[in-house]
Amino acid sequence: MTRSVPHLIGGEFITGGGETLPVTNPANQDVLWNVPMATDAEMQAAIDAAGKAFLSWREVAVPERARLMMRYQHLLKEHHDEIGELIAQETGKTFADAKGDLWRGIEVVEQAANIPALMMGETVENVARGVDTHSWIQPLGVCAGITPFNFPAMIPLWMFPMAIACGNTFILKPSEQDPMTAVRLAELFLEAGAPEGVLQVVHGGRHQVDTLLTHPAIRAVSFVGSVPVGQHVYRTATEHLKRAQCFAGAKNHTVIMPDANPQQVVSQLVGASVGAAGQRCMAISVAVFVGDSKKLIPALRDELAKVRPGAWDDEQAGYGPLISPQAKKRVLDMIRQGKEEGAECLLDGSDCTVDGLPDGNWVGPTVFSNVTREMSIYREEIFGPVLCCMCVDTLDEAIALVNQNPYGNGTSIFTASGAAARKYQHEVEVGQVGINIPIPVPLPFFSFTGWKGSFYGDLHAYGKQGVRFYTETKTVTSRWPEDDMVHEANMTISLK
Ligand code: NAD
Repeated sequence: MTRSVPHLIGGEFITGGGETLPVTNPANQDVLWNVPMATDAEMQAAIDAAGKAFLSWREVAVPERARLMMRYQHLLKEHHDEIGELIAQETGKTFADAKGDLWRGIEVVEQAANIPALMMGETVENVARGVDTHSWIQPLGVCAGITPFNFPAMIPLWMFPMAIACGNTFILKPSEQDPMTAVRLAELFLEAGAPEGVLQVVHGGRHQVDTLLTHPAIRAVSFVGSVPVGQHVYRTATEHLKRAQCFAGAKNHTVIMPDANPQQVVSQLVGASVGAAGQRCMAISVAVFVGDSKKLIPALRDELAKVRPGAWDDEQAGYGPLISPQAKKRVLDMIRQGKEEGAECLLDGSDCTVDGLPDGNWVGPTVFSNVTREMSIYREEIFGPVLCCMCVDTLDEAIALVNQNPYGNGTSIFTASGAAARKYQHEVEVGQVGINIPIPVPLPFFSFTGWKGSFYGDLHAYGKQGVRFYTETKTVTSRWPEDDMVHEANMTISLK
């Protein structure tokens, strides 16, 4: 019988009573397990368990919360390969990529283990004569996280370790397309010593998400996913007076200057554009060639033509399948539309097969040139292994193009000129910039700082901003009059 993915509520893994959806292996459509949609009663039980646990968890000493994170990161490292395999099964990612997904999450847990230093407030002595002010950083209460399919380990780990280290309790609603990874992360969290109720994992879709967004007991919502859902989550959560941070879709440009190192550009753009089948919010989907650099397009096309998708345990595979047949259909439709709208298809991955896996959601590397701003392949996030090439004459034109795009997650520039790099990093209206680095994802002591249409909210994920998002500042002003002490001193003098 197919295994059911359990919910975690109040420290117990339970079989859900709601309707179920199959979770399939994207390389062959085999049903791996069934995921239950949490019932209203299960959602309420999860919220109640988190509320109850908050009362005791907030009192646990901050260094003790840090020690839980140290034990947790140790266990995640010990189970690195096993979780990597699980991620690979659910998502189809190559083994190396799946392990990278977990590793980037482990780095956030390491940062959460540093929580005492991050929870420090501020003090000023003598704000008035004999009056001091200090601020405490205190947890909010019950927080919720809603996560996408494409990083089933990293993105949940962006959220609950930071929130819980700050003293909150958490409800995670992972993607219904790869929910078992979140359950395994939760099992190890309990094994590390997390008290019951501190973390819940509930499964579901829109209805369950809406319960979290509207329930009065939830104080803050973190979301990562597509633009329409991100906008819905941000609007609904803030309408219900909750704090919200919503990381959404992207269209990431890389700018190639004529003085860029050609080998570096070609080799780095291959992985940055089609790695993980282009299913990364920081994938490079638009290459902007300035002036003469356009002569690199044929070499880039030839290198991309050598990349082939395959099964997660095929060491020669460049990347895996798309997450679902629907995702594959969407990408193929966009490729067709690109051709119809007049872009030149230099490499077409529409008709892609993998030996022994005829039913996988395969799409081969695809390259378009002569792409214009009006085309749908430029305007919309494709989220597939498709690179759009555009040509401009100057760096100023390249910056204007990037700045006019509604998204602002990541961008990069390849150049040998410090002046060009300086101008680009200063003028570009994108939140994460790489210089001779194609995908500039910040490590967790910084924050993940997408801008514009790629992010709704103000405080970003992890780092100092993550701590600010999951906490409230309490400012205490105090006076301790010296009258009694002075009176006592005067008495002593008069008695002499
Ligand atoms: P998605 O928006 O379909 O789903 C994200 C989450 O929202 C899932 O948990 C899903 O169950 C839930 N959901 C889906 N429809 C909903 C609805 N109508 N109402 C409420 N909740 C709903 O996203 P996805 O396809 O899983 O992930 C891919 C998207 O995520 C891409 O657009 C990608 O760019 C984006 N992403 C962004 C970042 C970032 O940091 N900016 C990182 C990773 C992924």
